[in-house]
Amino acid sequence: MEDNILIFGHKNPDTDSICSSIVEEILSKKRGTNNVKAVRLGKINKETQFALDYLGIEAPELIEKVEDGQKVILVDHNEAPQSVENRENAEIIAVIDHHRISDFNTVKPLYYTAKPFGCTSTILYEEFKELNIEIEKKEAILMLSAIISDTLLLKSPTCTEHDLKAFEALEKIAGIDAKDYGLKMLKAGTDTSALSAKEIIDLDAKEFDEKGKKIIVAQVNTADINDVFSRKEDLSFAMEKEIADKNLNLCILVITDIINTNSRIIALGKDKELVEKAFNQKLDVDDSMLLEGVVSRKKQIAPPLLAVL
Ligand code: MN
Ligand code: MN
Repeated sequence: MEDNILIFGHKNPDTDSICSSIVEEILSKKRGTNNVKAVRLGKINKETQFALDYLGIEAPELIEKVEDGQKVILVDHNEAPQSVENRENAEIIAVIDHHRISDFNTVKPLYYTAKPFGCTSTILYEEFKELNIEIEKKEAILMLSAIISDTLLLKSPTCTEHDLKAFEALEKIAGIDAKDYGLKMLKAGTDTSALSAKEIIDLDAKEFDEKGKKIIVAQVNTADINDVFSRKEDLSFAMEKEIADKNLNLCILVITDIINTNSRIIALGKDKELVEKAFNQKLDVDDSMLLEGVVSRKKQIAPPLLAVL
């Protein structure tokens, strides 16, 4: 096991992080590298669980940190605060990602694939095609699930021509009605009724350390914003605790309506006025604001926010 190369996505893993890790393991093995193993850095969310259950496969093993010298492949992320504990002492042999590159250094040379597509799995799909390696039904459904999740069924502004083409090709291989499957999968992910406020915030939280400011932007998908927003008091309490525990300048919860593609955000912390600057809009008295047509943290929330720092 010492020699195993571990493949993982970011903390608070989403469907792309989990599915792309599994697919990268499959692709590596089909290319003849057998000592690879997909793992994960956090709890499986309900949306991802829906996809795994559909395929009848187990979630990758959970790890908390890596040993010194561990060989790793990163998918769906590159930023250190979003990655595994002790990564600075690991050996990163490859990165496959579709995010901005931030503060990324390695000691040794590596493979680095960065493409501004809507999903890591779209990059993997194109690798299968370029290498002329057969895509079987299992990996087709995994990649399809990741694309559906990251592009909100092709509705997010992050969705590119590449994602659309991959979606159509994978739908054929999968032999399923991907729109029907996708809506069911996304809806499975919006059921937050059994989750505590803290669990909702941890579902899909990303940390940014930039210009001396520590910011967490958490996101939760819903079919009705009021469903989640009705728990605002609880959510705010959990966010304030997060701010105190992690010494954050700003904590944002993005509640995204996946049907109408709008988001309401709640912003707390001593630098919450940054949000007003970033979106050129005043926060309501309840520290929230509606962002019409905004669904993508990566494309529509992080860039304006990081720009006003
Ligand atoms: Mn992701
Ligand atoms: Mn992704």
